[in-house]
Amino acid sequence: MKSGMVIVGAGEAGVRAAVTLRQQGWDGPVTLLGEEPHTPYERPPLSKDYLTGADRKLTSIGGTNQFEALEINFRPSVTVEAIRREDRTLITRDGETLQYEKLLLATGASARRVRIPKVPDPSILLLRSVNDSDRIRERMREGLNVVMVGGGFIGLEVAASLRSHGAIVHVLELQDELMKRAVPASIAQIIRQEHQNQGVHIHLSTRVSDVNTRHDRRMLTLSNGQTIQADMIIAGVGAAPSTGLAESAGLRIENGIAVDAGMATEDPHIFAAGDCCSFPHPLYDNNRMRLESWRCAQEQGEVAALNMLGKGETYMKAPWFWSNQFDLGLQIAGLPDQGSEEVVRQIDDRSLLHFSLRADGTLAGAAGVAPGNAIARDIKICERLINGGSKPDPAVLSDPGAPLKPLLQAG
Ligand SMILES: Cc1cc2nc3c(=O)[nH]c(=O)nc-3n(C[C@H](O)[C@H](O)[C@H](O)COP(=O)(O)OP(=O)(O)OC[C@H]3O[C@@H](n4cnc5c(N)ncnc54)[C@H](O)[C@@H]3O)c2cc1C
Repeated sequence: MKSGMVIVGAGEAGVRAAVTLRQQGWDGPVTLLGEEPHTPYERPPLSKDYLTGADRKLTSIGGTNQFEALEINFRPSVTVEAIRREDRTLITRDGETLQYEKLLLATGASARRVRIPKVPDPSILLLRSVNDSDRIRERMREGLNVVMVGGGFIGLEVAASLRSHGAIVHVLELQDELMKRAVPASIAQIIRQEHQNQGVHIHLSTRVSDVNTRHDRRMLTLSNGQTIQADMIIAGVGAAPSTGLAESAGLRIENGIAVDAGMATEDPHIFAAGDCCSFPHPLYDNNRMRLESWRCAQEQGEVAALNMLGKGETYMKAPWFWSNQFDLGLQIAGLPDQGSEEVVRQIDDRSLLHFSLRADGTLAGAAGVAPGNAIARDIKICERLINGGSKPDPAVLSDPGAPLKPLLQAG
């Protein structure tokens, strides 16, 4: 019997790869190994509707019966501990050995920890898995004093979710603006204003300088001089790619498992996709990057599967990301920080599109914020402009009355 395709990591990238292998007609064995005990589930709701309890059920990735129907051998609660490249074998924590013909590493990332002097590590909660989200949800009650360390996407989504349910929320951010690395300042300001209007306390350029416990209450003294009560501390300070397995197998690590634009490592039998890998992006001068994005993980899983079948595909789509906080929807297409000229379309107080152009006039990235899904269509158009290497007229981009769609024809 053929040893078949083996995928380590049953998240967004791993599941998509398994399904793609079948859709492409691969009829040999497909084994999907996941260390979590659950059927693969969507992570984005964990900081949004699942956390608030608005949606109490886990959303499974791609439906529950697909593995049986597609004859994908999905095995939960299996941790792969080593790769023996010389005889193409995996070793699991239980000591089982598994042969592979081609291997995909889709091991994702894990939430980074923060250290706060005098606060034991385990009492600083993290959010990556459903168990993490459950832990926060179980302790949630009205009037709970929550300190969110980190004003990035996950930190702010959690802040919005808990505030909507009556918690008193403080967000501590080291930088002088929220979401500083990923989002243009004009958009970060709208989101900050929304949080403040909703009663979230935002502390910029601030860290914890001391911790004291009085009458069972943990009090944090901040570097801005304020003292706040912390019944629950959550850290949202980014995620580290899960590269341990690849590293001990001698694969190259460069801010993630290093792959080429076809998701292949330097070992022709091993591929990597999703949050765990870094790759050169053809739309951005082949600069090596690692993305933590739901859609990117899916698309890379798909490309990896095609190339496990020898199809010679390249991953070259504009990145796309979304976040929901209170009733605001934020979307980003491409990489706004890769442009040199900024063009802003101010639609109203809470709605704005920000375009980032390169020196040659092509669109490097676009970001937008508005209530609900209002900017989704425009960001979709921007995605097409980025993918097509178009040079949109800045006068049209900045004009709130001008539709963007005609720019697709203008080239
Ligand atoms: C709370 C939260 C909210 C998010 N919200 C958004 C959003 O709004 N928009 C957006 O674009 N993105 C969002 N993301 C990011 C998005 O969910 C990730 O980019 C995506 O899940 C990455 O998929 P992946 O398959 O690469 O990794 P993961 O989904 O992390 O899956 C990797 C899996 O591999 C398993 N694994 C690791 N090592 C091993 C091993 N040795 N053996 C077996 N199994 C192993 C892990 O347990 C895990 O289940 C969010 C992420 C989180 C955590």
